[in-house]
Amino acid sequence: MTESDSVIEIKNGAATLSKELLDSCIHCGLCLPACPTYLATGREMESPRGRIYLLSKWQEEGGELAPRAIEHLESCLGCLGCQTACPSGVKYEAILDQARPHLAAHRNWLTRQIMRFSFGQILPHYGRLKILGIMLRAVQVLKLDSLVANLPWVKSGPPLLRKIADFQMFTPVVAKHIPLAKKSWKAGAKIGSAKLFSGCVMDIFYNHVNHAALRLMVRQGTVVEVPPQTCCGALAFHAGELDIAIDLAKQNIDLFAPSTDNIVVTSAGCGAMLKHYGHLLSDDQLYREKAQSFSLRVQDISENLALGKFPAVANTGQSDCKSHMVYHAACHLAHAQGVRVQPQELLSAAAATTGAHLYDLPEAEHCCGSAGIYNLLNTSLSLKVLERKMNFIEDSGADVVVTSNPGCLLQLEAGVKARGLNVKVKHLAEALDDAFGDRTS
Ligand code: SF4
Ligand code: SF4
Repeated sequence: MTESDSVIEIKNGAATLSKELLDSCIHCGLCLPACPTYLATGREMESPRGRIYLLSKWQEEGGELAPRAIEHLESCLGCLGCQTACPSGVKYEAILDQARPHLAAHRNWLTRQIMRFSFGQILPHYGRLKILGIMLRAVQVLKLDSLVANLPWVKSGPPLLRKIADFQMFTPVVAKHIPLAKKSWKAGAKIGSAKLFSGCVMDIFYNHVNHAALRLMVRQGTVVEVPPQTCCGALAFHAGELDIAIDLAKQNIDLFAPSTDNIVVTSAGCGAMLKHYGHLLSDDQLYREKAQSFSLRVQDISENLALGKFPAVANTGQSDCKSHMVYHAACHLAHAQGVRVQPQELLSAAAATTGAHLYDLPEAEHCCGSAGIYNLLNTSLSLKVLERKMNFIEDSGADVVVTSNPGCLLQLEAGVKARGLNVKVKHLAEALDDAFGDRTS
């Protein structure tokens, strides 16, 4: 889709919303207890039912989308907890996908330009991202980030300046970046080959997670390649910047085209987006089939690892023996991809091997409030949503929280830091690597 196509769609306004999709909601309210923004505010218009009502009203009446309605729609995390909970099978994701470009069109001009520049000119360019990562690391080492964030004129300045404090709160400590090998394998039996989608934000902030995933796959006998790739486009898509998302999707499809190997992803958000390419490009004659077969090749790291077997002997030197683990299911893994069983089974196996205890976390599939860049755009509601999650984590007595998405990692790390808890937040691949990894491979 070109920039002009995207503008045409927005001009059609409410007409682009599907009445059939909206009418499928029978307003029963059974989704309300699954909606983190409803639980945080208690307001009907911050619930799935309320948001569907607002869109239905706009669909019927046409005209401009009211500013209050925009606020309620923008405050949706896009976590899809409601879609899982809905007994009537309402396709909330499809409804939200249709609304997103309209929300983008109503966004403040400067905010939108900054977002478009980041999605189109920073995230897809790995070299630029790496330089940013190095700069951020230097700022963190010199503690300039907390110094600037705590300056009185920043704390009480205009909203854009106050965002510096939010950035500081939600930015993880950037470790030294170690490039991933282009091809890795171990001698002996092979169970197959795969391509690793290392991600952009994922590989800059959580490069060690990709290394852990690589080690685990290689240990199982997979030959792993890390081919040239670009940003998956998830952040652009969720912000309604369809033209950027579509362009990135086409680039990735072409970059991964020479092979038919599975594409393994460590970031649940990227995985959900890559699996969505088939749908995203369903109207594109040239890319429709290529996008569908690309999406079928995509696997979350847990789906890939569950196919193999780990050696019986654990790497106990690296394990968190006797630790008390809980699992927070990333929305984009559980609700968007429907991947629930494999992470639990793998973690149970890891716990059995290391002697750790794995406990159920209440509301484990409820969003933590990260939702891409939601925590930066809607910081106060994001923190309210996080508060509820952190209460459950603190009450559980866990010293390790495991999850599968970079956004969840940094959100939960911010929650742990704010409460001064002695809790490690780990990606599933790290937790498994502690139990089964082989650092000699
Ligand atoms: S989205 Fe589903 S669960 Fe929620 S009110 Fe509508 S029909 Fe009921
Ligand atoms: S996507 Fe999440 S935040 Fe949005 S309405 Fe559904 S449950 Fe609520």
